[in-house]
Amino acid sequence: MPEVEITARRLTAGLAGARVESALAPGLVALKTFDPPLDALAGRELDGVRRIGKMLAVESGDLTLLIHLMSSGRLQLFDARASLRDRSSRVLVRLDDGRELRLREFGTQQRAWAKLLRSDAVAEDDAVAGLGSDAYPAPPLEELTGLLDQPRHLHPLLRDQRTIAGIGRSWVDELLWTARLSPFQRGADLDADEIEALHAACDEVLGAALDHYEDVIGATVPDKLPMPLQVHRRAGEECPRCGTRIEAIHFRDYVMCYCPEEQTGGRVLKDRRLSRLLK
Ligand SMILES: [Zn+2]
Repeated sequence: MPEVEITARRLTAGLAGARVESALAPGLVALKTFDPPLDALAGRELDGVRRIGKMLAVESGDLTLLIHLMSSGRLQLFDARASLRDRSSRVLVRLDDGRELRLREFGTQQRAWAKLLRSDAVAEDDAVAGLGSDAYPAPPLEELTGLLDQPRHLHPLLRDQRTIAGIGRSWVDELLWTARLSPFQRGADLDADEIEALHAACDEVLGAALDHYEDVIGATVPDKLPMPLQVHRRAGEECPRCGTRIEAIHFRDYVMCYCPEEQTGGRVLKDRRLSRLLK
């Protein structure tokens, strides 16, 4: 959430009122729609960019370019156009003042995507229609209680966009650590105090991250954001609150970090057993 939100805010400041000269999708892999054609954006004025869950919506009147960055995509505004040989380019929206809004993706996988939709069809799109309530600001306590009332572990539950939208792999560790909850506690087993702690953590952690980004990020969002993380990616370091060694559990494509003293009753959880348990 916080990374996508600050991207939307900075792009809105930079793009509002800009006019599109042309739009193209090099390679076409990232573009998931063909009607309306991407070049329907040509000649239009952009209104701005808004966040929907973890997605970005570039809005221009009755057309919306919906974008999911996945784990390694970036949507940035550049003063000059990319070389067409730049293989990281996925979608290029060229502005008539020479600037370019560019969706790029790093690494070998091509997972970031874009869809050009009629604005009135965005809410019904598969990627949007199934989203749960947004994590920030946190939904009312009663609603959150209902959303979490599932027999699933908190770590996957909070990352499930159909349950609550906007929380990624990094921030779920921070939320659980802030609320002093085990990643393996089941949502349905939370008591009222625990749900309240999680509710407060959503606003506190995500709000503080956004404030941090507002302070340190200028007009352009950099490739690598200075994420203010306390436990995620900090395995082996001391817990900032109690000094206990932060432990990690490695999964195929992500790492879960936690403080054993404050979150799992002092137990250090074994990697393999629990990775099976989580499936
Ligand atoms: Zn601790």
